[in-house]
Amino acid sequence: MSGLRAAVVCAMGVWMCGAAVGQQAARRVAITFDDLPGTNSATMNAADIVAMNTELVGDLSAAKIPAIGFVNEQRLYHFGEVDERIHALDLWPAAGFDLGNHSFSHASLNHMPLAEWELDVERGETVTRMLLDEHHKTLKYFRYPYLDMGPDLMTMRKAEEFLAQRGYRIAPVTLDAWDWYFAQVYGDARSRKDTALEQRVVASWLDHSAAMFDYYEKKSRALFGHEPAEVLLAHDTWLEAEHLPELIALLRKRGYTFISLDEALEDQAYGSTDTYVSDVGLTSIDHWAVERGRPEAAGVKPEIDEWVQEKYKALAATKTLP
Ligand SMILES: [Zn+2]
Repeated sequence: MSGLRAAVVCAMGVWMCGAAVGQQAARRVAITFDDLPGTNSATMNAADIVAMNTELVGDLSAAKIPAIGFVNEQRLYHFGEVDERIHALDLWPAAGFDLGNHSFSHASLNHMPLAEWELDVERGETVTRMLLDEHHKTLKYFRYPYLDMGPDLMTMRKAEEFLAQRGYRIAPVTLDAWDWYFAQVYGDARSRKDTALEQRVVASWLDHSAAMFDYYEKKSRALFGHEPAEVLLAHDTWLEAEHLPELIALLRKRGYTFISLDEALEDQAYGSTDTYVSDVGLTSIDHWAVERGRPEAAGVKPEIDEWVQEKYKALAATKTLP
């Protein structure tokens, strides 16, 4: 197809555009945000947290797509700011979006005894449950902090049993482009009003996202023969709040439509066996690939641009990053 003809077809709609360039037309993705009310909320004031969440929820509402946010309630408890921080959280269910539990203190199951971790999960549901209740919703999803599912198979299974007993369904991830990492460099540029650097970070993040989506789509096809409904991991940060429309446009261009987490998890891929114990958090697709003896089914994972890594490391050397 000539470039001109492709452009004409693309002008007829993004769905057809995806189909016209030979992509799978029925791509579907559920978008999820971790670390509410903000990955960097420990170093933000309540007014900024409210502004950031207002912008993010506004982007989602404008795009008319479903979303769920996973909460760390410890982030609410800052002296003199609790009401305002709870208000930032309430913006989500008030606008029709779902909330899930991401543990109270963002505790890694790989680095905390199971009993202690279970208490942290329980402690993480008080305010979230109350807010959901006010909006006639129920708390039903849990997302592992750092995607850490436990240091050994027995702990993994015991934690799964505990979560099921408390009524939780585990929220997996299949698409992860490490937005939180770029968000640190972006947030620093933003605080110094370095708009040129902000734009460079956004461009690098979007390029990396496209490369990672490509990688996981390929890996899905290699494992399942098709692409299951995907679950995208994103984070509650200024990067997402100020540039979500570009990420949504990127996904639409790749032929994705947006569905709820409930719908995504109806895909039978999510019933796949997983006995892989990993000391670093990985997506479900990475787990299933190891399970099937094909960890490199889509080749090597794309790397983040070196200059972004250098800036991140320089920041990490001067302050504690999330
Ligand atoms: Zn998190």
